[in-house]
Amino acid sequence: MTKNESTKPTNFIHQIIEEDLKNGANDGKVVTRFPPEPNGYLHIGHAKSICLNFGTALKYGGECNLRFDDTNPEKESQEYIDSIIADVRWLGFEWAGDIRYSSDYFDTLFEWALHLIREGKAYVDSLSAHEMREYRGTLTEPGKPSPYRSRSVEENLELFEKMRQGAFDEGECVLRAKIDMASPNINMRDPVIYRIRKAHHHQSGDKWCIYPSYDFTHGQSDALEGVTHSICTLEFEDHRPLYEWFVANLPVPVEPRQYEFARLNLNYTVTSKRKLKLLVDEAKVNGWNDPRMPTISGLRRRGYTPASIRNFCDMIGVTRSNGVVDMGMLEAAVREDLDANAPRAMCVLEPIKLTVTNMPEGEEEWFELPAHPKDESMGLRKVPFTRNLLIEREDFAEVPPRKWKRLSPGEAVRLRGAYVIRCEEVIKDESGEVVEIKATFDPDTKGANPTDYKPKGVIHWVSAENSVACEVRSYDRLFTEPNPDGDKERDFHDFINPESLVVYPHARAEIGLKTSAVESRFQFERQGYFCVDPDSSETTLVFNRTVGLRDSWAKMQSK
Ligand code: ATP
Ligand code: MG
Repeated sequence: MTKNESTKPTNFIHQIIEEDLKNGANDGKVVTRFPPEPNGYLHIGHAKSICLNFGTALKYGGECNLRFDDTNPEKESQEYIDSIIADVRWLGFEWAGDIRYSSDYFDTLFEWALHLIREGKAYVDSLSAHEMREYRGTLTEPGKPSPYRSRSVEENLELFEKMRQGAFDEGECVLRAKIDMASPNINMRDPVIYRIRKAHHHQSGDKWCIYPSYDFTHGQSDALEGVTHSICTLEFEDHRPLYEWFVANLPVPVEPRQYEFARLNLNYTVTSKRKLKLLVDEAKVNGWNDPRMPTISGLRRRGYTPASIRNFCDMIGVTRSNGVVDMGMLEAAVREDLDANAPRAMCVLEPIKLTVTNMPEGEEEWFELPAHPKDESMGLRKVPFTRNLLIEREDFAEVPPRKWKRLSPGEAVRLRGAYVIRCEEVIKDESGEVVEIKATFDPDTKGANPTDYKPKGVIHWVSAENSVACEVRSYDRLFTEPNPDGDKERDFHDFINPESLVVYPHARAEIGLKTSAVESRFQFERQGYFCVDPDSSETTLVFNRTVGLRDSWAKMQSK
C-alpha cells in the first residue's frame, strides 16, 4: 500500500470518525479490526471489509487489528487461518501487533458470564432447542419466559460451573442473558451466550467444552482490544442493541461502537463462504483458489493484482444501501492495472503451421519489439523469425467473410513487429482440414517500413522451433445467471456455467517467456491478460487468462 492510496474518498464512516476526532472522542484514537471467522477462505466481499477497516486506520493514523472470530471450533481450521493471513498480507495490509483470536479472551468471557449471573442478568436454561424456539415467539408475537428463567443466582452459578466441567451433554442446557422476552427485537429475547460443544478447538485445545456465542464475544473482544469503531455489515444492525447491552452491563475497559455498511454483492457469482465451500467439497471447482472462484486466492491465481482489488473497493464505495455490483467493474479494475503494468508478449493459443518458403531452413532473424507500447522503461523483447512459424488458426480463413482483415489465400498480412507475408498455398489433410499454410515474406517490409502491399491486418505469431510450449486456461464466469441465488425453485448449482473453463493444451508463446516466474503477468497481444499458474513445469508453462482486452461479455449480453 502506498501512502497516496490511503487518501481515499470519504464515506459516511469516515464522516463519523472525523466528527469523533473533532469532538475529542476516544482520546483521538482510531482503532478498527477485521474479524474473520476461520471457517473458509476469504472472498471479494471480505476484501471490501478489509480495505475499509485497514484503509480507515491508515487514513486516520490509527490501527487495525486482525482478529479471528473463532467461537465455532467444529467449522474452523488452521488451514483457513493460514489462508486468511496470507490473503490480508497479499492485499497489502499489516495489522497492529500480534494476530488476535477471540479465543484469547475465553477466560475473561467466562468471568464476565459469571458476572452477569451474579448480577441476576444471566441464567442456565434447560429447555430443549426446539422448546426454546417455541418460547421465543415470532416477529409479531412476544416470547414467553422459560420456566428456568427464575433460577436462583446460586443454582445458576452451580449449573454453569457444571456445564464448564463437562457434566452435561451438548444441548442439555445453555446459558442465556436475561434481557426481555417481549422485546420487538428477537435478538434481545434472552439470547444464548454460552453453549456446550465437546469439540477440540484449534487454539484453546481441549480446555473448554463450553463456547461463547458470537454476540457474547464480539463486542467484548472489541472492548478488550480498545477498538473504537467496530465496522460490520448490515445484517448485524439488529444485533447492535445487544452489542450495546453487553458493553453497558459488563466491566469492559472501553466502550466501542458498532457501525454497519452494505455488504458487497457481485453478479454472476456467490459470496458466501458456505456456498463456496460447497463448490469446493462437491468438486465443482478445483479448490478454494480455483481461478473461477471469487475468493482472494482464486483472484490472485487468476492474475488479479492487489492494487486492482483495492482500486475496485475504492470504486464501489461504502454506503448503507444494498445493491449488486457488476462483475464488469471488477474486470475493468484489473484490466486498467494490467494495461499499464503488464509487459506485452505473443502467444498462439490454437496454432496452425505457417511455412515461410523463402526463408532458409535453420536461419533465424531476431526482431526487437517494445515490451510495452506506452512505457519505454520496460525495455525491449526479442523474437526470432524463422522458416517454420505458428499463427492462430482463427486468423486464417480459406473463404474469408466480408471485411476480413486477417490471412486468406492470396492475401497479405503483417506479422506483428516483423515482415508482411502473403499466403501462397494451403495444405489440407484427407479430411479437408487446413494443416499448413505456405507463405512468402517480403524483405522490404521489415519492421514498420512503408510498403506497397498495405496489408489489411496485423496478426501475432511465434517461431515453431524457438518458442515455449504452454497450456492456456481460459475462464469464463462461473455462473450463467446474474443472480445465481435469485431463483425460488432452483438453487445456484443449477446455474453453474459448464463452459467456465476452456483449455488450450498446445499453445506456444514467444521464447522470452520461458523462465517466467509463477504469477508473472502479461498481455498476450490481441488476446487479453494472462498470468503464470503454479501448475507450470520445466517443460510447459501454464497460463491463466485473467481477463480479455475488452468487456466482451457486456457486448454478448446486449446482442
Ligand atoms: P460469509 O457470509 O461469506 O460466510 P461472514 O460474514 O460470515 O461471510 P466473516 O468471516 O464473519 O464472514 O466476515 C468477516 C468480516 O467481513 C465481517 O465483518 C463481515 O461483515 C465482512 N464481510 C463478509 N462478507 C462481506 C461482504 N460480502 N461485503 C462486505 N463485507 C463482508
Ligand atoms: Mg460471520
